[in-house]
Amino acid sequence: MLNVLRQIVQEVNEAQDLNEVLRIIVQRVSATMGVEACSVYLADNEKKHYLLAASVGFLEGVDGKVAIHFTEGLVGLVGEREETINLDDAPNHPRYRYFPETGEERYQAFLGVPIIHQRKLVGILVVQQRQPRRFDEGEVAFLITICAQLAGYIVHAQTAGLISDLPSSDSQGTILQGTAGAPGIAIGEAVIVLTSDLDAIPDKEIEPQEIEAEINAFEQALALTRQDIESLKERLDKKLLPEEQNLFDAYLSILDSPSIKQDIISIIQEGHWAPWALRKIIKRQVHKFEAMEDLYLRERSADLRDLGRRVLSNLQSEHLPTQEFPSDTILVGDEVSASALAEVPQGKLQGVVSTKGSANAHVAILARAMGIPAVMAVSGLPPHKLEGKKIIVDGYNGEIFTSPSSKMISEFYRLAQEEKELYAGLDELRELRAQTPDGVRIPLCANAGLVADIRPAQQAGAEGIGLYRTEIPFMIRDRFPGEEEQYLIYRQLLENFAPKPVTIRTLDVGGDKTLPYFPVKEENPYLGWRGIRITLDHPEIFLVQLRALLRASSGLKNLRILFPMIASISEVEEALRLLRQAHREVVDEGANAHFPEVGVMIEVPSAVFLANELAKRVDFLSVGSNDLTQYLLAVDRNNIHVANIYDSLHPAVLQALKSIVDAAHENNKRVSICGEMASEPVAVIPLLGLGFDMLSMNAHSISRVKWVIRNFTIENARLLTQEALTMVHPKEIRSFFEKALEDAGLGGLVRVGR
Ligand code: PEP
Ligand code: MG
Repeated sequence: MLNVLRQIVQEVNEAQDLNEVLRIIVQRVSATMGVEACSVYLADNEKKHYLLAASVGFLEGVDGKVAIHFTEGLVGLVGEREETINLDDAPNHPRYRYFPETGEERYQAFLGVPIIHQRKLVGILVVQQRQPRRFDEGEVAFLITICAQLAGYIVHAQTAGLISDLPSSDSQGTILQGTAGAPGIAIGEAVIVLTSDLDAIPDKEIEPQEIEAEINAFEQALALTRQDIESLKERLDKKLLPEEQNLFDAYLSILDSPSIKQDIISIIQEGHWAPWALRKIIKRQVHKFEAMEDLYLRERSADLRDLGRRVLSNLQSEHLPTQEFPSDTILVGDEVSASALAEVPQGKLQGVVSTKGSANAHVAILARAMGIPAVMAVSGLPPHKLEGKKIIVDGYNGEIFTSPSSKMISEFYRLAQEEKELYAGLDELRELRAQTPDGVRIPLCANAGLVADIRPAQQAGAEGIGLYRTEIPFMIRDRFPGEEEQYLIYRQLLENFAPKPVTIRTLDVGGDKTLPYFPVKEENPYLGWRGIRITLDHPEIFLVQLRALLRASSGLKNLRILFPMIASISEVEEALRLLRQAHREVVDEGANAHFPEVGVMIEVPSAVFLANELAKRVDFLSVGSNDLTQYLLAVDRNNIHVANIYDSLHPAVLQALKSIVDAAHENNKRVSICGEMASEPVAVIPLLGLGFDMLSMNAHSISRVKWVIRNFTIENARLLTQEALTMVHPKEIRSFFEKALEDAGLGGLVRVGR
């Protein structure tokens, strides 16, 4: 059975469209089970019926012509109950209905299984047989497995079909779900990124006397590619700070990697022409990267493919055809690379859509730095079908709208305009304090991870950096940065903000953030070696960072150090011991370094229960609501299958936040929050009500959060929060605070607020 299943999945994978997918399913299932009839009905929720979409064993030409109402017949019953129905004598069942068009009266045995994808009923798969008999357990299990496995493929094929079937500008349009890569709304024309066609390169043997010239040609192509990348980097020079330009250095270092170059030359020396040698080695490396569990490393396979394409085009002296970029370009591709993004002339790029990659991908990092909305990992999207089409990119919610109706376009223009106005209006708040109408100040700080974040944070009026994620400079290198390199980054950060506080978190890798040069292979990375666990196990790495931080703070008094992923008291004790050691060392060496304020992240359930003890040992607590929500609710923060139950307004999260704030305040310590929750207007009311002393968020969100703070008295926020703490459903809590925003005249924030 497993083999049959694999084979069906493989065939379905290669199918051209939905009809072919369904045809493969009915044919394969009927052959494997030896039944006389097999049919798939697809649910049409608007018309409230199941449409017979593919069949074997029914009359010829009937597919697409039989519609069964949701409440009709045995098919309807399977749908209503969302469970399998197995009958040996179907015609005698009270819900049996005869559909003469199908000619199915011959069939007695009936087995119907619902096809369900992410809780939604997609359709029904039915097998039937003339002989009365009950299907045995193995057969039922097989059909259930087939349906569970194929539901996703059917939905995927349906979506792909919808895209191509909806060319008119007045159709309803299709929404495709991805993940948010960079915030904002963009409306424009899809321009497809040219992809590498390394796969099309044939093998060609060369004569021994041609080898040297071939190697020279290859080396020249490498040199040209290097120049291309250098000039792309220069073109973005004004937009990017040195830290982001390192992304291009990562490209260059792959290009310069002696092993890749040597492997290609060796194949040429064996008598193959250079394009084939290039294809072989790049593909081998790409496979290696793709097979890696580590998300960051997997993303690097895209860089490699992009490089392969560039070297190839130089090798063939056939530069990429010049692409036309309209003034409202939305770059769309399976794998939009950072360099493809750089290729669009300045001012023309409005948005980015990629079917692969995550918010961690270089292109998403760049898009954020450039303020271009981006949606990543869009499922069900064959990019070429969007070529030249109008699309809407919603970088807040990670959605794109294809073939939108004119009404939708104008609605989104309005929204984008409103957003602009909202932010323009909010700009006026820049100079105003984040203070409640009853006079309570709540400093708003910015989260940062690149030096490029400094400017937006300052422009947004951040009162300091509430979380600097040091892993990002570590991630975009090919080795651990040395003390001097780190010193320069931290110094720049501290100097730019002095005397405002800058909270720098020590290295927090592991989970979904791994270093290309320090791979950690784990079954369960979120429960594994991450955050402080790694740095305590490697004091030689930790001490370099602590020393760099302390030296960078010389003469300034604004450094605050934050330890991530603290789960036990001993971890804080050990980290503090190492910090004291590093401090002694740098002071002995002559640095004028003040001993910094130290805090711990509260992001693991054990830390919630230990908050009181932790607060006694440090100067402040900082809640990492992203991880805290993930660990409290046991919901992987990056898993789209459970994304609908990941909610920071879950009552359990609110209760946890309350006990953290109370524990900090009982010890006269300050408590802040630096997860995404702090940037959600709807969550700001309970954060105020619970008593958080400081909120830290992406710079872009500061003005809207300030707007909320300036409209809710602490008294009002407390009362609302008390009421919300009695509620048991996350949705109820969310609507409650949404209504509170609307009642306060801040309804605009509800819509753009996520
Ligand atoms: C968090 O977990 O909320 C947090 C701020 O840290 P990160 O998102 O970097 O894990
Ligand atoms: Mg975290």
